[in-house]
Amino acid sequence: MTNIYESYRIDRPYYGTPEHYYNEYLRKHAKKQNKGARGQDSERGKCYSAEWAFQSKCSGQIPKFKDIKEAQKYAKKIYKSKTWQKIWSESINGDVTRIFNASPEVNAKLKSSGRGTAGWSNGRSVTLDTKVGLDAYTLIHELTHCLGNMHHGRSFRKDLLSLVSRFLGRDCAKALKEEFKKRKLACGEARKPQTFDQWNAARVRMASIREKL
Ligand SMILES: [Zn+2]
Repeated sequence: MTNIYESYRIDRPYYGTPEHYYNEYLRKHAKKQNKGARGQDSERGKCYSAEWAFQSKCSGQIPKFKDIKEAQKYAKKIYKSKTWQKIWSESINGDVTRIFNASPEVNAKLKSSGRGTAGWSNGRSVTLDTKVGLDAYTLIHELTHCLGNMHHGRSFRKDLLSLVSRFLGRDCAKALKEEFKKRKLACGEARKPQTFDQWNAARVRMASIREKL
């Protein structure tokens, strides 16, 4: 995802040149496509509220685990799937060390951390609260953070929907997507930036329109 920008970026342009402004354009474009991936995780609150609405609607279709062992078993099933394998191997493009992260550890929370969360992840492993976090959706949410999405931005939601569709079914994925859409949260493929030539042609065109006014 991020690599496309690296390949478009112009190496060390002079300040004030079109090439310089093009790099600025790329930076802003990247930020817009995946809020959270760079800087503040600004869509987290909306993402949570979409998830809560979804979970209460679809609670009947979300498997519950009786203990952490069951959650670990379910995680293994996820790691073996083509869906997981595909997203995981793509995530290596963004960070090669993720090659060692094909099957993140799933742990039970040992003592209360004071955080009122069902689960959390440091991007390498997952911890589930054994009172409120032993269900397939919480596990899938946290595992999605282990695929190179340390935020709740577009790429997080896109990968989340793929896993939800594969493991909880298409109806669940549809319901979750609807909640995202209601809150104007994009979850499709990120839009590609313009190439320098496209961007520059548009800029020149704008300038000539302005001159005519
Ligand atoms: Zn999260």
